Amino acid sequence: MSIEAPAAGRRRARARVQGTVQGVGFRPYVYRLAGELGLGGFVLNDAHGVLLEVEGSAAAVAAFLSRLGPEAPPLAVLERVSAEEREPQGERRFAILESPRDGVADAPVTPDSPTCADCLRELLDPEDRRFRYPFTNCTNCGPRFTIVRGIPYDRPYTTMAGFRMCACCQAEYEDPGDRRFHAQPNACPECGPSVSLLTPDGEPMALGSHRDAMQAAAAALRDGAVLALKGIGGYHLACRADDEATVARLRARKHREDKPFALMARTLEDAAGLVVLGDRERELLSATERPIVLAPRRREAPVADAVAPGSPELGVLLPYSPLHHLLLADFSDFSDASSAPGVALVMTSGNVSDEPIAFGDQDALERLAPIADLLLVHDRPIQTRTDDSVVRVVAEPGGPRSVMLRRSRGYVPASLPLPGDGTPRHVLACGAELKNTFCVAKGGRAWVSHHIGDLKNYETLRSFTEGIEHFERLFAVEPEVVTHDLHPEYLSTKYALEREGVELVGVQHHHAHLAACLAEHGEPGPAIGAIYDGTGYGTDGTVWGGELLFGDLEDVRRVGTLHPARLPGGERAIRQPWRMACAWLAAAGGDGGGAPAIPPALAGRVEERTWAAIAELARTGLASPQTSSMGRLFDAAAALCGIRPEVNYEGQAAIEFEALCDPGEPGAVSDRARGGRTRAGWP
Ligand SMILES: [Zn+2]
Ligand SMILES: [Zn+2]
Repeated sequence: MSIEAPAAGRRRARARVQGTVQGVGFRPYVYRLAGELGLGGFVLNDAHGVLLEVEGSAAAVAAFLSRLGPEAPPLAVLERVSAEEREPQGERRFAILESPRDGVADAPVTPDSPTCADCLRELLDPEDRRFRYPFTNCTNCGPRFTIVRGIPYDRPYTTMAGFRMCACCQAEYEDPGDRRFHAQPNACPECGPSVSLLTPDGEPMALGSHRDAMQAAAAALRDGAVLALKGIGGYHLACRADDEATVARLRARKHREDKPFALMARTLEDAAGLVVLGDRERELLSATERPIVLAPRRREAPVADAVAPGSPELGVLLPYSPLHHLLLADFSDFSDASSAPGVALVMTSGNVSDEPIAFGDQDALERLAPIADLLLVHDRPIQTRTDDSVVRVVAEPGGPRSVMLRRSRGYVPASLPLPGDGTPRHVLACGAELKNTFCVAKGGRAWVSHHIGDLKNYETLRSFTEGIEHFERLFAVEPEVVTHDLHPEYLSTKYALEREGVELVGVQHHHAHLAACLAEHGEPGPAIGAIYDGTGYGTDGTVWGGELLFGDLEDVRRVGTLHPARLPGGERAIRQPWRMACAWLAAAGGDGGGAPAIPPALAGRVEERTWAAIAELARTGLASPQTSSMGRLFDAAAALCGIRPEVNYEGQAAIEFEALCDPGEPGAVSDRARGGRTRAGWP
């Protein structure tokens, strides 16, 4: 088979590879594979992905083509590989060629990805030059989206621009046979970023020579300190999860009254000691996206009640940066060896209450110093604020399926193929207001942004406008069409209306939900959509939120809706579910009914006079817009059962109501009916 015939037995093939194939080590992989098979030819990145030609014995070329997809590097996602025959040219050398300068690559940036097994081994190997170096990465792992400033994806256009590679790193970077060939964030202790441990007034801690900043931080965590930690997409606040007083202190300082905190476990087995994990949950926890996974809490888990008050579930994630690995390892070493399973760390967003997560160093110091006892920081800037993603698994007839609750770090900026032919025009979709994301699209692809958050916060609004500019640059999208919510007061709508020289298209909120669901599943429709939501501006000017829509990507008809009720006193009804209980009782009483009496579960918890006043608002509709919101119906039901007359965040009453369900109830509706729901409360 290795006997090489002269020219007649030779074969040359050209292959075009599309998908996520740039910046993921695909060219060096092709180079090595071609070398192994003794093939000549070339490989290059261009505007459509990777283009390559290989030439050699027919058997070797066939072997190359059959191995090309299956053995691709871990971060590569191959969407299409097409091959064609070419005339052999007698080429015996294989080369990585420069990218042609005619055109902009479609997907030059990939999501941030967790430390790979090879880097982890180096990190923990005392003989390696990167031993305990918290910025170790390679072509198969490391920060991407969060450090990119512009295109092409090249070191000068990342936040690594200020670090000049030492000779060793440079040699790795230039060697196609090396795992760090063209790894843009490549660094080592000689030349790369470094960490330091600061007191809340910004002074570096004096550390004994035998300890580095991570070890000192881990020891402080063991002793009950709250640590602000600079991560990949922003700052976290960390503390040991098993100590009630420590977690309560963090909660009090953060003013995060009831929302659950996520936990970082050192290993999958440690995670399994905290929550009940099925196969799908295990896969998700270890996946390259490294999301927070929600799962049922184990009764015996060493987790303080203050971590997730009133919730039968915990959100757990695994370490995804070298800094996390070192911190968790050191923390475990320092912890009581008898505590099995390992104690996890609370790892929650570095912010106060509902503000966006801090990612700029000065801002973090100002906002987090009052909360943290120590700050573990580093000097690699974060370009784009990116929260941890949150997923959960639901049972489906075809088997368990993951449902995305917050799509951000690890997933963004992967693109979504659009159903049908996609859009021939460049589009920007501005999104809603409370949990904003935006989206840009062209051709057959859409890029949904990271989770932006509540635009009413000034910092978040800035992330929104800067994020849009960033995405337009990264993906070379020049919007011709700008779509917006129908709500005239949404700041995202106002932003859209100020864009000049574009065609504006208003999209009804729940039609957008239906279309997004179709797009996510690659379906063009038509379909019937049941959209159960909190609030969305309806085409009749009322507040919609429990809608049955029939239609497709372009158009829908409202074919059903929840019976309307009043929102007594407007937005205040969201914070006070007892008002919705009152409104629903009034609505159920029919037009002729008198004021509803206070139900037993709310007796003594709402003043009679106030109840009567709200009942009057609900009856007359004064200052009380009409709504078909499903979220408000859930609130009403929860309040009627005495769960929560008032809430600290939207959806809290419904979440706590759901938490009371007995999973052992034999007459329960099957788990299937739970698909697609989202939870408002997670960090
Ligand atoms: Zn690596
Ligand atoms: Zn170096």
